[in-house]
Amino acid sequence: MTGAKFKVAIIGAGMGGLATAANLLRLGMDVRIYEQARQFQRVGAGIQQGPNAVKVLRGMGLEERVRDLAFKPQMTRYREAATGDLMWERPQADVYEAKYGAPQLLLHRADLHEALASAVPDSVIQRSKKLVDFAQTGGGVDMTFADGTQERADVMIAADGVHSFVRERMLGPERPRFTGRVAYRTTFPTHLIKGAEVEGSTKWMAKDRHIVIYYVNPKRDEVYFVTSTPEPDFGVESWSREGDLDELREEYRDFHPTVRAVLDACPVVHKWALVERDPLPFWTQGRVALLGDACHPMTPYMAQGAGTSIEDAAVLARCLADAPASRLPEALKRYEKSRKPRTSWIQSSSSTNDIERFRREQDQVFSYNAWEEPLAENAFELTR
Ligand SMILES: Cc1cc2nc3c(=O)[nH]c(=O)nc-3n(C[C@H](O)[C@H](O)[C@H](O)COP(=O)(O)OP(=O)(O)OC[C@H]3O[C@@H](n4cnc5c(N)ncnc54)[C@H](O)[C@@H]3O)c2cc1C
Repeated sequence: MTGAKFKVAIIGAGMGGLATAANLLRLGMDVRIYEQARQFQRVGAGIQQGPNAVKVLRGMGLEERVRDLAFKPQMTRYREAATGDLMWERPQADVYEAKYGAPQLLLHRADLHEALASAVPDSVIQRSKKLVDFAQTGGGVDMTFADGTQERADVMIAADGVHSFVRERMLGPERPRFTGRVAYRTTFPTHLIKGAEVEGSTKWMAKDRHIVIYYVNPKRDEVYFVTSTPEPDFGVESWSREGDLDELREEYRDFHPTVRAVLDACPVVHKWALVERDPLPFWTQGRVALLGDACHPMTPYMAQGAGTSIEDAAVLARCLADAPASRLPEALKRYEKSRKPRTSWIQSSSSTNDIERFRREQDQVFSYNAWEEPLAENAFELTR
């Protein structure tokens, strides 16, 4: 790809923002990330990267690093919660490599974040910079931050997450929809688990709740779980906070002894409101575009939120690579048109938490290669 040197501002240094910065820097663009947090924290959470996401990482030169850090399951098992009866075995590792051209990788969320950050020089990331206002004037975007400073860029990419301020300014105030469910999640040393052996990767499913348990490194010495637990009265104001272990164990008291052994061993847990949105009417406005959870937040049941965010970053880079400076809004529209059908479909599929549907749609999710998929029609070529 060849690229003109645009000045690009990225709001948010999450998975989507970092991947976007890394890809645009490789095109020779002048990139700055503005992140509201003072520093990154290692919160206890795992993350799955499907073959579609691993192919994006490959194109960014990060695949080997992530493979070395990750647990690569041979199989993910779906089991009935109380009896442990097998409902579905999903062969992964070598089978996925042969079929989709990349494996499924399971790792610590902070390790993936660090890998993405390793592709972005520290000088590109400005911390303690919370965007509080922006306006498009004279072929650029003026931004104002909470500390009173101002910046200007040719294009602004808002990777500011599910509670996106930029989305709100573009489309009006509307909270993400609370699903009535919470996710308890944490990572902890495997040796704390007594009297049970944990399989590599298992989803334990009851009628109204589930828990997913897997290792987050090749040594299998750190284990992760994440639940989907009904709690309609959870105060969404506090969409993330420390969870009560006794309440959690009570919620899963009828589950298989292996699950109970994992929960008994767990020293601390966090609790997140599970929220989602319907697909947005549009993602871009002039020289401003949304990316990642800012435009397509989804439930975690297909483990595709971060994966689709980094797919966005690859496709956005492809759309900006050949865009003339005068046609940046059209290039952003092209990015939106290229991505929205896929993410809208994954949002709606993920929302169902229907493993029969996941099974049917798996090929479509994992075969996708964001570096090679045809892009939507190129508006500026047609009008040139
Ligand atoms: C329980 C759970 C499990 C999940 N499991 C998986 C999984 O296995 N696989 C997977 O692919 N995905 C998973 N996801 C989804 C994944 O975590 C998200 O989709 C992903 O983090 C989205 O990345 P993002 O960069 O769009 O947003 P975020 O990671 O939320 O980053 C947004 C960034 O923007 C910053 N920011 C916000 N507002 C401002 C502002 N005004 N100014 C400056 N900075 C700002 C924030 O501080 C933050 O750093 C899971 C999610 C949950 C809740």
